[in-house]
Amino acid sequence: MPLVTTTEMFKKAYDGGYAVGAFNVNNMEIVQGITEAAREQHAPLILQVSKGARAYANHTYLVKLVEAAAIECPEIPIALHLDHGPDFETCKSCIDGGFTSVMIDASSKPFAENIEITRKVVEYAHDHGVVVEAELGSLAGVEDEVKVAAEDSSYTRPEEVEEFVSKTGCDSLAIAIGTSHGAYKFTAAQCTRNEKGILVPPPLRFDILEEVSKRLPGFPIVLHGSSSVPQEYVKMINDNGGKMPDAVGIPEEQLRHAASLSVCKINIDSDLRLAMTGTIRQYFAQHPDHFDPRQYLSPARANIKAVVTHKLIDVLGCAGKA
Ligand SMILES: [Zn+2]
Repeated sequence: MPLVTTTEMFKKAYDGGYAVGAFNVNNMEIVQGITEAAREQHAPLILQVSKGARAYANHTYLVKLVEAAAIECPEIPIALHLDHGPDFETCKSCIDGGFTSVMIDASSKPFAENIEITRKVVEYAHDHGVVVEAELGSLAGVEDEVKVAAEDSSYTRPEEVEEFVSKTGCDSLAIAIGTSHGAYKFTAAQCTRNEKGILVPPPLRFDILEEVSKRLPGFPIVLHGSSSVPQEYVKMINDNGGKMPDAVGIPEEQLRHAASLSVCKINIDSDLRLAMTGTIRQYFAQHPDHFDPRQYLSPARANIKAVVTHKLIDVLGCAGKA
């Protein structure tokens, strides 16, 4: 199956009460780990590429890796999405270069300017059969080149969404309801601690999500910054020479609840990075004499697959929905 847009995926996800996973890819092992899981679970899939990934791996390599995944997994629909397109030119270059979906993130701009930039991308994208995700409100945290301090982040204002969507014509909308980018989503001061001393973040603002959904019935909503930062991998990293104190993510049961509502796309990146890094650190500690990259990248790929399999089944609810 050739790469597809997210239109059909989102319609089925909205009606079916689940979300499609959007996983960030940077190299072959990550692409393979994710797509092998989705293929086995018969799940629709979004592979997404950030500006940083394009700078790291090169646009052509990433597109060809994702196209290879589509050839190897003909039984599942796969979309190739630009994550956090910073401007029209970046979006245009991805639209011209084989992507089926782009995000224009002008959420840091004033409302009217966000509309203007988004509208321009939508016009070009729709002329080329590509769909567009836009963003209202801004998430705290760090993701590649997107850095927003907690005090500059802001929840989405539900009273703005109808005007934004009707004036831009965007196909899906990322909103800010308390998720955050990176592996340190919240400071200790924002959290409580459970009996094991693990930080418990503040709950997501489901009241905002509900108000947005009421104003945009049937419209697909996107959540960014939705890694859960599995403590087993944080521990694996810290036990093998790493130093990631107080890394904390979004509880999976809250994401599962969001997926059952109007959220059709959930972005997960940090959890795969943690699985890969933890696995490789442990491998190096256990096999100091090994030097063949295939030896440590194989278990890293296998654990990415395991994390994605868990997400598809237990968090997103999209297993069996391809
Ligand atoms: Zn994001």
